[in-house]
Amino acid sequence: MASYRSVTVYCSSSNSIDRSYVEAAKKLGTCFAKSHVQLINGGGSVGLMGEMARSVHDHGGRVVGVIPVALKEIEGRAYDASDELILTETMRERKGIMYDRGDGYVALAGGYGTLEEFLEVLTLRKLGYHNKSIVLLNTNGFYDQLLSFFDHMTHAGFSPEHATQYFTTVSEPEDVLPALELGES
Ligand code: AMP
Repeated sequence: MASYRSVTVYCSSSNSIDRSYVEAAKKLGTCFAKSHVQLINGGGSVGLMGEMARSVHDHGGRVVGVIPVALKEIEGRAYDASDELILTETMRERKGIMYDRGDGYVALAGGYGTLEEFLEVLTLRKLGYHNKSIVLLNTNGFYDQLLSFFDHMTHAGFSPEHATQYFTTVSEPEDVLPALELGES
């Protein structure tokens, strides 16, 4: 049996989004399963998190969800079908496990939670705490304004190294795994 690599995916918990984002998440789930890449995510059954996790399973892959007890209890929306569902006490503990378990990191379209998680792994890479690949899936140009803002930060002197040297931006889900350069399993 082929061994799994693990990739942590940060993405939206919202269901009120355009279908194109859902299709991208599902397509990426197919790619993970077919490439024997295990999905590490926030353990929710909602939004793109749930869509991608179900797609991974539909295509025979593996899902590891990491979710704080409070979030699971309050919302009652953990993805219980996860092959491993890791319950944590705090959000910080959860983020730490998602960070530790990933051989690489991907951000899909999302809200504040996704942005916060993406910026954390980006900052840690910039500071040299890790050297793992980070990929931003820019479906429909969703992150164009963020990328422009990164330009602005650099021009204004707040980030001498341009942030884009620490991550790769791709437009299509099929391009995510090649950009992560995980190597053969
Ligand atoms: P957001 O982009 O604001 O929708 O937040 C999504 C990100 O925050 C995910 O990557 C999760 O790690 C985390 N998150 C937010 N809401 C939930 C939820 N209901 N269940 C699990 N994780 C969540």
